[in-house]
Amino acid sequence: MPELPEVEAWVRELDPLVSVRPIERAGPAHVATLKTIDPPLSALEGRRLAGTKRRGKNLLFPTEEGDLVLRVHLMSAGRLRYLAPGAKGPKTPMFRLRFEDGAELVLTEAGKKKRAGVWLVTPSQLDGDLAHLGPDALDVDAAALGAILRRERRQLHPLLRDQRALAGIGRAHANEILLRARLSPFKASTELSEEEVERLATTIRENLSHALALREQGKGDKDVYAIHDRLAEPCPQCGTPIARVDFEEHTIYYCPACQTGGRLLKDRRLSRLLR
Ligand SMILES: [Zn+2]
Repeated sequence: MPELPEVEAWVRELDPLVSVRPIERAGPAHVATLKTIDPPLSALEGRRLAGTKRRGKNLLFPTEEGDLVLRVHLMSAGRLRYLAPGAKGPKTPMFRLRFEDGAELVLTEAGKKKRAGVWLVTPSQLDGDLAHLGPDALDVDAAALGAILRRERRQLHPLLRDQRALAGIGRAHANEILLRARLSPFKASTELSEEEVERLATTIRENLSHALALREQGKGDKDVYAIHDRLAEPCPQCGTPIARVDFEEHTIYYCPACQTGGRLLKDRRLSRLLR
């Protein structure tokens, strides 16, 4: 799933491109992808976009007049591409915007499950739809992070990837950040020392900024992630083989030497003992 750095890199790439020409045709969109019906997509036709913005993992395309916003969430397998005029694109994308010069913005989605979404809403609807999102993970300082951590006793890994607490981090960057902050994925959020909160805040900012720089250079997961999806490979900090804990929906990767005092975490029950 694309996380904050990858989405932000796309935002920066698309920002100058989508405002060059007005929209000639908006849609068609796959019935599973388009989540709103009023206003209709045709309300965008003849209009110009102001650029590209982001909130959490959502890409936002406001109109020049500021009265409408096209929101795109890629979920796990969605991809958004800008095709220059005349470039060959997919025959039946999930969603397509065609500009007056023939350029296109196309959303594709791999796999059978269609989970990516497109919404056309007013700015106030957008604010309501995204009101649940926590502050952007790139903007959070130690004081703000401390308040989020102390609000409720939760394990660090699920807390970091909860968009309501902090927007932008997913499973992969939660693994990367906790390794570099040398904190157990299961440590209770309310039990961090001041120094640990500072370290975690600094690590979040450094890790996401570094990943953003790599994504802007076009680098992929293999270059961006040092621990995520790298079972038994050496930890980049100490050389210990990377370990993992499996859950029904996801897998947590960690370094036993850097993060859990050498202990191997077997499952949820055991992890409870190791907080
Ligand atoms: Zn290590």
